[in-house]
Amino acid sequence: MTALGDLLKTQITATGPMRLDTYMSACLMHPEHGYYSTNDPFGAAGDFVTAPEISQMFGELVGLCLAQTWMDQGAARNFALAELGPGRGTLLADILRATQKVPGFHNALGGVHLVETSPALRAVQAKTLARADLHWHDSVDTLPAMPLFVVANEFFDALPIRQFQRAGSGWCERLVGVEDDAFTLGLGAPHSNEMVAHRLEDTKEGDLIEVAQNSASIATALSQRIAQHGGAALVIDYGDWRSLGDTLQAVKDHEVTSIFDAPGEADLSAHVDFEALALGLTPGCCHTRLTPQGVFLERLGITPRAQALAKQMTGASLDAHLAAHRRLTHAEEMGTLFKVMALYPESAAPPPGLDT
Ligand code: SAH
Repeated sequence: MTALGDLLKTQITATGPMRLDTYMSACLMHPEHGYYSTNDPFGAAGDFVTAPEISQMFGELVGLCLAQTWMDQGAARNFALAELGPGRGTLLADILRATQKVPGFHNALGGVHLVETSPALRAVQAKTLARADLHWHDSVDTLPAMPLFVVANEFFDALPIRQFQRAGSGWCERLVGVEDDAFTLGLGAPHSNEMVAHRLEDTKEGDLIEVAQNSASIATALSQRIAQHGGAALVIDYGDWRSLGDTLQAVKDHEVTSIFDAPGEADLSAHVDFEALALGLTPGCCHTRLTPQGVFLERLGITPRAQALAKQMTGASLDAHLAAHRRLTHAEEMGTLFKVMALYPESAAPPPGLDT
């Protein structure tokens, strides 16, 4: 067992079963032993690979989508670019490079804002983005009050969730306990729950739902700025409209493992419930429908871009490039499982590439 595992067991033995969001939060963000606090988990040598790490084309197209949205809203002369959970900073680096040629964009760019809690990843981001005007934030609450163009790729799936199992017209919360020195999952007593009352209409006895409590309040904070000052947010993640079933998973060395195997050393994530984000929006800010990532990237021109890049490639690098294009867009890879939803001002046109 890991050092964090022992710590959590001691805590549970002393104070009783622990909520899943508390467990998940400790595994990911414990200051000393948390997965993101101590690691750079990305890339071929890490535990998982995200879309910007697969190909530069992802960030280029996201950048052009944001730049087009900035132009459609009148090319504000002072705006901020922000990313939630920027990982290695690769996506922002690609966005900043791809938008170099957009007239006026970089002159109007009043700062690059990174919402990141991990000190280890902040250090990596500082290196990757050395030439940009960088500002780090612990949460979205301190993002500037100005036109704000935001991207969040695989951020919301890392936010801690709670799980509830339907019991009559109430819910039992799934809790982490300890038995014979091993972690177990148990159920708390049934109780009615305002937060998930709306799910009584589409669930039956025994169904399991997941709630990421922070998601809605993050959407609220973003939407307040977007409604008041303009801008947009692109949320890209795996998940769907409303959660159903247990989607919490642990990944270590590119393999799925139990969430209890190596607390603090495996990545934990859960499917994003996009409806929860939509429910958090402030009046004046609306959202697009969910668009599959493959469709979004095709509409923004990933295939001609891939062909242009392919012209300068041969052999193994060409094969890798073609595989990356497929991986980002194909229905059997990330194309369908990953969805894109944009938040934008009610008075403005939606960002390009999205279903409305
Ligand atoms: N967007 C990047 C990385 C995704 S991994 C990419 O596409 O490659 C998740 C990122 O979110 C990491 O940078 C992690 O440290 C950060 N993160 C996770 N939970 C967070 C929280 N509650 N607040 C701020 N950042 C968080």
